[in-house]
Amino acid sequence: MRIDLHTHSSVSDGTDTPTALVHAAAAAGLDVVALTDHDTTASWGEAAQAAGEAGVTLVRGTEISTLLDGSSVHLLGYLFDPDDAALAAELDRICNDRIPRLQRMTALAQSELGSQVTWEHVLTAAGDAESVGRPHLADALISLGEASSREDAFDRLIGPSSRAYVPKHAPDTSTAIRLVRTAGGVPVVAHPWARGRRGVLDVATLGRLRDAGLVGIEVDHLDHDDATRAELRRIADELGLVPTGSSDYHGNGKQGYGLGVCTTSPQSYEAILAAVGSNGVNPVP
Ligand code: AMP
Ligand code: ZN
Ligand code: FE
Ligand code: FE
Repeated sequence: MRIDLHTHSSVSDGTDTPTALVHAAAAAGLDVVALTDHDTTASWGEAAQAAGEAGVTLVRGTEISTLLDGSSVHLLGYLFDPDDAALAAELDRICNDRIPRLQRMTALAQSELGSQVTWEHVLTAAGDAESVGRPHLADALISLGEASSREDAFDRLIGPSSRAYVPKHAPDTSTAIRLVRTAGGVPVVAHPWARGRRGVLDVATLGRLRDAGLVGIEVDHLDHDDATRAELRRIADELGLVPTGSSDYHGNGKQGYGLGVCTTSPQSYEAILAAVGSNGVNPVP
C-alpha cells in the first residue's frame, strides 16, 4: 500500500486540477491520496468523482492556516463533515480574507518593491483557484520576469520579512483542532519542524495540542532531514500521536515534491481512519 496524505490542486496553489491530480496519483502508483487544498473543501466534489474513475482511494481533507502564539502552523484536517456549520464558517473566513490580504500585498509590491504587478496579473495567475495565496502573486511576478521561480519570489520578494508581506486571518491552532474534531474529522499537524519551526512546536506544546484533540504529526516530509524525522518519530511515540508521511505535492508549483515522495504507513492510515467521528465522511470509493 502506498499512501500520500497531503497534496494541493489548482483549487488552491497547486497546478493540477483535482481531476488531473487524482489521475496523476493513480499513475504514480499510489493506492490512497489525500487532497488537502488550503482552507477550502471546494475541490472535494470533483476529486471524488475522479477517484471512482482513476482507481485510487481519495481521502478528502484540507490544510488549515492556524496561528500558535503568533507563529504560522499548518493543520491538516481529514474526513470531516464539510457541512459542519462552525468549521465551514471558519474555513470561509480564512479563505475569504485571503483576497484582501493578497490585494494589499500586490499594492505593497508596487509601492515598496517597485514591481509592475497589478491585481489583474494576480487574478490571471490564480485562474479558477478558490483559495488564493502568495504562490499566485509569485506566479504573477514570474510572468512579468521579476522572479525566476516561486522559490525565488518567496526568498527575495514575498517572504515573511518582506516589506510587501501582510499576514492573513488564521484561528488559534487548538481552536482549529477542536473544530476539526467536532466536525468528525482527524487533525494532523503538517511539517511541524519545517523552516525553523522546532522552537514553536516543542514537545510540551505538542503535548498540549494532543490534549486539545490532535491525532497525528507529519514526520516524513521533504522539509525534515533524517535527524528531524527520527526525533519527531520518537516524540510521536512518546505522546501517542500518529506519525504520517506525505509529499505536499503542488504540481509544477513546488519542484521536487513529487507524488509519493514520502508516504504514510498502512498502520498509521488505519489509525487515522479509526479516529474519524460518527459525523465524519469516508474515503472514496
Ligand atoms: P500563503 O498561505 O498565501 O501565505 O502562502 C503560503 C504557501 O506558499 C504555502 O502553502 C507553501 O506551499 C507555499 N510556499 C511557501 N514557501 C514557499 C517557497 N519558498 N517556494 C514555493 N512555495 C512556497
Ligand atoms: Zn501550498
Ligand atoms: Fe503547509
Ligand atoms: Fe501543503
